[in-house]
Amino acid sequence: MNKDWSEKNKKIQMLIGRETTFAEGIDVLIDLRNDLFSQISYIVNTYPPEAFYQMPFAGAEGYHSKTLAYSMWHIFRIEDIVAHTLINADEQVLFRGGWQKKTGSPIITTGNELMGEEIAAFSRKLDVKALVEYCKAVMDSTNDLLRSLEYKELKRRFCEEDRNRVRESQCVSTDSNAIWLIGYWCEKDIRGLVKMPFSRHWIMHIEAMCRIGNKLCKNARKGSDPIARCGLSCNHCFLKDWCGGCRTAYNTCSDACRYPGKICPNTSCCMEKGIDGCYDCDELKDCKKGFYEYDDVNAVKAMALFIHKYGKKELLKSMNRLHKEHDFEKVQEVLGNDLEEGFRILENTRER
Ligand code: SF4
Ligand code: SF4
Repeated sequence: MNKDWSEKNKKIQMLIGRETTFAEGIDVLIDLRNDLFSQISYIVNTYPPEAFYQMPFAGAEGYHSKTLAYSMWHIFRIEDIVAHTLINADEQVLFRGGWQKKTGSPIITTGNELMGEEIAAFSRKLDVKALVEYCKAVMDSTNDLLRSLEYKELKRRFCEEDRNRVRESQCVSTDSNAIWLIGYWCEKDIRGLVKMPFSRHWIMHIEAMCRIGNKLCKNARKGSDPIARCGLSCNHCFLKDWCGGCRTAYNTCSDACRYPGKICPNTSCCMEKGIDGCYDCDELKDCKKGFYEYDDVNAVKAMALFIHKYGKKELLKSMNRLHKEHDFEKVQEVLGNDLEEGFRILENTRER
């Protein structure tokens, strides 16, 4: 489990367990939920539509065997059912917001009953932009519930009437892979529900989503040119574990993400000029477009100038060597901010 999330989760459980620190615990919980939701937003804002119905770990044991879209649906359907039908006995966000129609979902259940290909087929039907809005609406609604919760309510338990209400909502399938959920929730008190559907359940599924996303990026990188148009070696970029490289649909480059269609100024300029990359451009040395606009980050331009002189293969070799010799994340940590100096470091590395 992600160390920060796991530690925050432990802290929450400790804080909400005492009356004097309960309110602080709820604040930390809402903070953790915001952190986790930012991962979902990142995935939705950066990955292409087809990413949401792929199953790169199909058949594996664990939450990562699902799809990104299914994971989002499942986390927030469970939360919506538990928060509204079970705890508050009021109308779920799904129904009051008309989200079934907006998301295009053929089901109102948690999705536990779906298996293998059914998960992929279901995920294809979902409108991901509407889905993330539904997820956000559920999160906000549950945050309100959490903020209004009092310490003394944590021990509240559920009765047969509560159990029947959930059953009659038909939001949990009668399939044996799903029906157990009703008993599981109803055996807990409110504190137990805060612990599982509202915090730990998020962590487990969002970690699985990160794993799915990283695997899709890894698959996308296979066979694609690892040199970005600006000259950066995507194989050596600190984002490489969760980016497919900037020549694939899984480009998560922070610079590209600032522009429509994730097309950065270097890429659009190269396309207009009909060249493979900035390293083939006569204006490279004085160019201030895109990644070259930052005077204190000349390392990428040094890489482009190096490719211009020695070619892509030589850059990859020099970068491999630099990574063996130094422990660094961002290339400017070894090439520095001075263009000539960065270029010289790459040349010296090549000659060694
Ligand atoms: S700035 Fe543009 S060309 Fe460079 S890595 Fe990012 S997306 Fe690719
Ligand atoms: S003008 Fe600048 S951004 Fe355009 S291709 Fe040349 S070096 Fe790249």
